[in-house]
Amino acid sequence: MTYTRLHFLAKIADILTERLEVPVLCQELKSALSELISTKELNVYVYDSVTNTMRDCVKSWSIVNDDSNIYDAFNKIKGYDFVINTKAYKLPTVVSDITLKIDSLYMPIVKDGQDFGIIELELDENTQVNMEFLFLMKILSSQVSLKLQNIILNEQSKINVEFHDSMKNIAKIIETQYELNYIVPIIGEMLDRFIIDHLIYVFLKQDDEFKLIWPKACKDERIYEVLKQLTPQTEYIITNDDKIGVFPLISEESEILGCIVARSTLDKLSKRDISYLEQLTRQSAITINRANSYSKILQYATMDALTNLNNRRQFEYRLSQEIATTKRQNNPLCAMMIDIDFFKKVNDTYGHASGDAVLRGVASIIKATLRESDIPSRYGGEEFAVLLPYTHIQEAQIVGERLRKAVESSPIPVNIEDSKIQTINVTISMGLAEFNNQETGEELFGRADKALYEAKGSGRNRVCVD
Ligand code: GH3
Ligand code: MG
Ligand code: MG
Repeated sequence: MTYTRLHFLAKIADILTERLEVPVLCQELKSALSELISTKELNVYVYDSVTNTMRDCVKSWSIVNDDSNIYDAFNKIKGYDFVINTKAYKLPTVVSDITLKIDSLYMPIVKDGQDFGIIELELDENTQVNMEFLFLMKILSSQVSLKLQNIILNEQSKINVEFHDSMKNIAKIIETQYELNYIVPIIGEMLDRFIIDHLIYVFLKQDDEFKLIWPKACKDERIYEVLKQLTPQTEYIITNDDKIGVFPLISEESEILGCIVARSTLDKLSKRDISYLEQLTRQSAITINRANSYSKILQYATMDALTNLNNRRQFEYRLSQEIATTKRQNNPLCAMMIDIDFFKKVNDTYGHASGDAVLRGVASIIKATLRESDIPSRYGGEEFAVLLPYTHIQEAQIVGERLRKAVESSPIPVNIEDSKIQTINVTISMGLAEFNNQETGEELFGRADKALYEAKGSGRNRVCVD
């Protein structure tokens, strides 16, 4: 064997010991081969028994078109060493000096004695090759087979781990959250991150209509048509072209709460996608059901479960009381609106559980910094509203500034798995307004909110007064 060919084999050995993704692996193999022979293309295709299709390993496992010669080559290669141009070929058992003219060469990828894919090699037209080259390719394909088996096994187990993580996360959200409008987008986001090949939509049924909750828009009219077919008995619906899958979210009372829709852009929905979606939908339904019953109980509660501050309902009630007293006694009253700065980033960077920990942390700083007579509430997601009775705007500004500084300088403890980060620092923006005796409570907080908006607009981490 010539030095060049030995060198080639040594190079292949090197490539195969590296940790590479399939596309890079192909690139590297192609460039090694190019030293030996002029190589136009090198591709790897694997047979997917679930969908009965060939998948392009270089182009993120996309399905190969029915009419492609890849299927033909894969069918012909069984029991042979190669498919050369379009014919199956077995290597001679005796030494031979035959040469062949080749445009394309297919080599089998074998696992446990079974073909599970092919390597496609496109050469310049009528390239002359000898037997030694073909034997070399035989070694190459068996080595690459082993490598691919490894990579594919890894990918598979990675997907399974991610799947179980998604399921766990969906179950976890509910521990402190019961607002469907908050929970559903998280579920949508999580599904979307997991089901990469398809677009995911989450609908909730409101007043007998399906309302899109996640993402913000769905322009596909066909989806709305399919939704009309849903009944509480539906397991799931897959359209005839296998492009749209609708998975209903069913309540404990067997009513339709909503549905999760997967819409494929390129590939069809595979049996595996459907099985994952079914399980994720079931888990999401449990979460949504629990949130529903939880929120029914909490309708009568006064406290926000996450922060232990007054909830929104209680806030409205206390506001009307305070306005009445203030009017009667002519006392001063101030309104304070607080919003955590860049809070979405906290969720995105450290996860929603850490976001929740930060909300609790900020709430406890608010409680610790304010006076006993002040009335803090969780107004919405990461917004807090505070009523300051017997307080003029000048005092409110001092209190507000003190609170702003306290938040800025307090590291909030969080517990992030597998991370050295133990605390997170955030800042707040604040808007203040003093009651003017002519307005309603809503108008008062409307002004505080306007000031908050100004604080955000002028750089955040500051207090503005209306
Ligand atoms: P800005 O400085 O303009 O206020 O930026 P922001 O990122 O804080 O503003 P935005 O209103 O876009 O984001 C608020 C985020 O708060 C979005 C939502 O996911 C998150 N959020 C709302 N409620 C909760 C909750 O109860 N827990 C957690 N972890 N996040 C919440
Ligand atoms: Mg906000
Ligand atoms: Mg914010």
